[in-house]
Amino acid sequence: MSSLSAKIQDVFNEPACDRNRGKDAKARKEGCSKPLTPGAAAGGCAFDGAKIVLQPITDVAHLIHAPLACEGNSWDNRGAASSGPTLWRTSFTTDLTELDVVMGQGERKLFKAIREIKEAYGPPAIFVYSTCVTALIGEDIEAVCKRAAEKFGLAVVPVDAPGFVGSKNLGNKLAGEALLDHVIGTVEPDDAGPYDINILGEFNLAGEFWLVKPLLDRLGIRVRACIPGDARYLDVACAHRARAAMMVCSSALINLARKMEERWEIPFFEGSFYGITETSEALRRISALLVKKGADPEILDRTETLIAQEEGIAWKKLAAYRPRLQGKRVLLNTGGVKSWSLVHALMEIGIEIVGTSVKKSTAKDKERIKQILKDDNHMFEQMAARELYAMLSEHKADIMLSGGRTQFIALKAKTPWLDINQERQHPYAGYDGMVELVRQIDLAIHNPIWRQVREPAPWDRPPAVKDELSSTKSATATVQAFKKFAGATAVDFGAC
Ligand code: SF4
Repeated sequence: MSSLSAKIQDVFNEPACDRNRGKDAKARKEGCSKPLTPGAAAGGCAFDGAKIVLQPITDVAHLIHAPLACEGNSWDNRGAASSGPTLWRTSFTTDLTELDVVMGQGERKLFKAIREIKEAYGPPAIFVYSTCVTALIGEDIEAVCKRAAEKFGLAVVPVDAPGFVGSKNLGNKLAGEALLDHVIGTVEPDDAGPYDINILGEFNLAGEFWLVKPLLDRLGIRVRACIPGDARYLDVACAHRARAAMMVCSSALINLARKMEERWEIPFFEGSFYGITETSEALRRISALLVKKGADPEILDRTETLIAQEEGIAWKKLAAYRPRLQGKRVLLNTGGVKSWSLVHALMEIGIEIVGTSVKKSTAKDKERIKQILKDDNHMFEQMAARELYAMLSEHKADIMLSGGRTQFIALKAKTPWLDINQERQHPYAGYDGMVELVRQIDLAIHNPIWRQVREPAPWDRPPAVKDELSSTKSATATVQAFKKFAGATAVDFGAC
């Protein structure tokens, strides 16, 4: 068995995953990917998944050993943010051509590319990604990386996750394996302390981890490494000296968390920073784990004080939105953000959940949603676009929260929509993030455009309206007539 096959089998056998444990040995070997429907979008290959996990390490050069299209497919397709370096967003590829393949020039071209990046940018590390073409022609990326690392004196990390081996989710896990094999534990920090933690599976989308980090700073807790959001190579290399870890997105990096616990005795828990209660609970559990690992127990009291202060401020800000949003109905159609924590967060301010997708939720997540919603009638695995449209156009929801792919269904049904997936523009984590989420929902629902687009078109209006509109002489009179019948309040027709 090749080392990649062995690695994949290892990843498919995940003791920390409930769904995985629920399968028999044969089903486990097949992984979690469902067969693709012909004509449907696959939702990302394994290479794509590996790149998603590793690219937010911001001072690293990410070099794709492939024909040009693979990098075009995966480059910067998430809204992760960096507080400093910009190298991670520079696109590097060996741009392999047919001639390179036929002439067997791939490895030579890769070595040359590594040298060029080293000379032009001097990064602390270069991550080299294999892809379908380079894996199929048998490029020995690992050997090239090893040789380049010796020759150029920098870390050159092979990421062996060619697209054809499986889904995006498998690629996420193979990226975690690459970090375990080649990065984490390779540097010894000289400042390890009893309050060091790792945050795993946090991507710092729209910079939202920056809303959480100040809370940890106030407690004197240092984030040794946030993997991968806004991470630096050296921090990741030193991550094995953290005392505790929090897993933010379990399906992506559960193997990393479990293996770090086994190798370096870093206990972890799974939590979320979405919603006020969940944020408080996450802070409590971080402090409790640190105390278990030898930190001063006084941190528990300080954590409670901080939680009381921050919750008070957040609830005060949210009080202004409660009368405007009480009883509003939300349809959640997402796989990216943890549905259960979002469901909980929205219900905290009186919003009603009319449906939530659980397609990418684990069994534990589904159980949590069931407990929060009190029944499972509102949970759906997947809703076809037609059903989604029918639900929205019959006004069974006041707003849909989803990713960009389904936004046009909502817009066609003349229903407010808010992006909560990886491309979103607004940060929703922590106490301030929750206030921002509610603010955005309020803005979307109460945007005057919805009233206007739901008005019948002029040619569909009753004859009396049409007559009055057509009999008016001046532009001002037309505007006044239109206002009268449209009941327009928000648009300044006079300025047209
Ligand atoms: S790795 Fe393979 S599946 Fe993924 S983008 Fe490249 S060619 Fe396509």
